[in-house]
Amino acid sequence: MTPPTLTRLRREVIEAGICTGCGACAALDSTGSTRMDDTPFGPRPVFAPDTENLPDLAWDACPGKGIDYPALYLRHYGRLPDNWLLGCFHQVRTGYSADDAIRRGSASGGILSHTLVYLLESGQIDAAIVVRQGLPEPRKARVTIARSRAEILAAAQSVYIPVSVLDILGRLMPGERYAIVCLPEQASALRWLQHAGHPAARQIQHLLGPYTGTALYPAAIDCYLRSKGVRADDPVTSLKWRAGEWPGYMEIQTASGRILRSKKVYYNFLIPFFITQTSLQSMDFTNEFCDLSVGDAWSPRFEALSGGHSVLTTRSAAMEQTIGEMARKGLLKVETEDPEQSLAMHGHMLDFKKRGGYIRNRIRRRMGMRAPDYGLRPQPLPASRWAVELVVGGLFLVGGTTLARKALEHIPESVIGPVFNRLRLGWKRMSKPVKRKGLGQLSMAVRPCP
Ligand SMILES: Cc1cc2nc3c(=O)[nH]c(=O)nc-3n(C[C@H](O)[C@H](O)[C@H](O)COP(=O)(O)OP(=O)(O)OC[C@H]3O[C@@H](n4cnc5c(N)ncnc54)[C@H](O)[C@@H]3O)c2cc1C
Ligand code: SF4
Repeated sequence: MTPPTLTRLRREVIEAGICTGCGACAALDSTGSTRMDDTPFGPRPVFAPDTENLPDLAWDACPGKGIDYPALYLRHYGRLPDNWLLGCFHQVRTGYSADDAIRRGSASGGILSHTLVYLLESGQIDAAIVVRQGLPEPRKARVTIARSRAEILAAAQSVYIPVSVLDILGRLMPGERYAIVCLPEQASALRWLQHAGHPAARQIQHLLGPYTGTALYPAAIDCYLRSKGVRADDPVTSLKWRAGEWPGYMEIQTASGRILRSKKVYYNFLIPFFITQTSLQSMDFTNEFCDLSVGDAWSPRFEALSGGHSVLTTRSAAMEQTIGEMARKGLLKVETEDPEQSLAMHGHMLDFKKRGGYIRNRIRRRMGMRAPDYGLRPQPLPASRWAVELVVGGLFLVGGTTLARKALEHIPESVIGPVFNRLRLGWKRMSKPVKRKGLGQLSMAVRPCP
């Protein structure tokens, strides 16, 4: 007999280390007593003793155990994707917000923030559900409901530590309409809930989200601060992940007045040491169940220009209309992009997710550990690609040890930042032939999830 949902989630997802901290199960606890608690591995559900059971939906919608992607493509889009790297889509564009303040205050081109502002001010939503760094304290981040332009813009920029989002469903006002910004695992769980008829989930009329490569465990911030010699009695007063001119830098201010800045390309050195399990197991980079997905427009053409540039993909007729309308009104400066060309901006990360994610999950299972199953098997998957993953996996395994993290604290960023960047670029160049081999023709064999 299958154990109850609560026991399964506890044993097979949370204790097994594959919970993404999305918050969906907390929202489905009808007693309202399950909460998401901060842990070193990101938010995790804590079930109250009086939570005797959860509906089966909490298991089906749990992205930690894996969402049945083929079933969800069919339910949501009525078809499987023609392009397995990008998912189902209407149009791909590049561009940025024409409002300079929004653009400069955002992670890349300010497309997500400006679209939320437009939906709110044109009366299409009552509020936007966003994630904001600095709540409830500078080093943390929380989901929050923004009811004004100012509140939406205060939550601009990317937050690279895990944040639970879907537990907010329990706090929505009946009858109100919302837009939400969420990561790929949260978007797929939310779509599952919507198609199952969950009333609060259905109040969310627009899903927006970033292309999502990697996030860091919160301990990365502690390690960074210690490496800079910031003492425990000098608390952080503000943290921004993408301050300044695109692509931006991490900026941390402390009570004593210290300001620490680290270029985005340099603090990437934290990734091998603190990358989250969710980043490793996900097979969705372009946030395939959002109506609007937005990433950085990494290309020599845009990187040579000033100001932030985004790549944006619409996936619903309504969002396509909204973006077209915003462009016609001069609110966004956008141009149509060839979908295939747009993928060249993120070839490395697409491979990391689509083939790397699958291989890493297979390796976990072969080693007797739990891993999510998305019902997808990439093809082609040459032996050389498995070999590359063994090198990458080995690096993450060593990097994640206490010893390696401790050693990192003693290497000045001025040394490790540039060295890591050079190694990263060198490795990218070396592994490119294998990683790109067959990527353009990538397809997925689909099968129902168990
Ligand atoms: C964890 C993470 C990893 C990413 N990895 C990549 C990558 O590898 N390649 C790439 O091209 N782009 C990546 N992005 C996307 C990129 O950083 C920008 O978010 C994206 O280009 C949108 O820019 P924007 O200026 O339109 O967003 P903004 O206008 O700055 O708006 C960002 C919105 O996203 C919300 N948000 C921020 N962080 C989170 C979060 N953790 N969970 C839910 N909502 C959030 C904010 O509340 C805000 O509403 C990543 C983003 C995140 C959060
Ligand atoms: S992944 Fe989400 S639904 Fe699954 S156990 Fe974790 S918080 Fe709950």
